[in-house]
Amino acid sequence: MTVSAAVSETIFLERAASIIRSGGLVAFPTETVYGLGADALNPDAARRIYAAKGRPSDNPLIVHIADPGDIAPLTERVTPAAEKLINMFWPGPLTVILKKTKLVPDETTGGLDTVAVRMPDHPAALGLIRLSGVPVAAPSANISGRPSPTRAEHVAADLGGVIDMIMDGGECRVGLESTVADCTGDVPVILRPGAITAEMIGAAPGAHGDVRRSPGTRYRHYSPLAPIIVTDAPPRELSEADGALCFDDTRSEYCGGAVVSLGARSDAAQAMRNFFAALRSFDASGVRLIYAETPPDTPDFAALRDRLFRAAMPL
Ligand code: AMP
Ligand code: MG
Repeated sequence: MTVSAAVSETIFLERAASIIRSGGLVAFPTETVYGLGADALNPDAARRIYAAKGRPSDNPLIVHIADPGDIAPLTERVTPAAEKLINMFWPGPLTVILKKTKLVPDETTGGLDTVAVRMPDHPAALGLIRLSGVPVAAPSANISGRPSPTRAEHVAADLGGVIDMIMDGGECRVGLESTVADCTGDVPVILRPGAITAEMIGAAPGAHGDVRRSPGTRYRHYSPLAPIIVTDAPPRELSEADGALCFDDTRSEYCGGAVVSLGARSDAAQAMRNFFAALRSFDASGVRLIYAETPPDTPDFAALRDRLFRAAMPL
């Protein structure tokens, strides 16, 4: 069932919350991307998330809470590093990694002894979590490997008929997944870049080595059906079977093919918001190859570059 009406209406939230409480799966909007939610403390519910997405079982889930204080039962210790980031950025697109308690099942953390926690900045998400009365485990609500969903239609295309309910909250404001910061030590270490940059959180440098990556970021991910070539100089004359992902300043230089702009080259926030929908639009055009202009190598584009390079990884 897809709920298209105002998702904050209590009757829909009540229904969604009762599905979560009984171990079912509800897709819900957040400010980053749509999440596929289940009771984070129920191992069977967590297993259902992996089955619905076809997600590798070693790729842990993020646990969503509706109040900063709700983190206490989930972790052994909220470190000073985590406390500082929580005060600065919650609710918002920042996930903290801390040592987990026994309350959090291994199914939710992919067998790790740490747990990822976030408080989203979205009224429907917060309403759902509050009414459910449990922390809500939620990865992105896409089939594993596909572009993350930033609209309810994207969720329906991937998971319609497979999950119990889709809450439609329109387009996601941020458009890329949260920044993931390991806060188990003295200084936060970024495991996955997002809209909140390394500079904004004063993260340790050198966080992008293989060892310190988020488990989930090792896989090819976010990919449309056609392969992507990231290049500084894409051909401007395209065949009908080609796609181009560009910015507004070069848009008019292309002819032929399916050309999609991420917006102004100076506006990383806009590019992030448009990115996943742009990738999915190439599927609808049926192109066989996508040329993507290399995004600017500036800190505000770090998250977009990460997602684009990962989407372009060979299978
Ligand atoms: P998704 O919700 O689909 O964006 O994926 C969640 C991301 O958070 C993945 O990249 C995971 O690897 C990462 N993550 C979740 N839990 C942990 C953890 N305990 N340690 C490190 N990374 C985590
Ligand atoms: Mg994901």
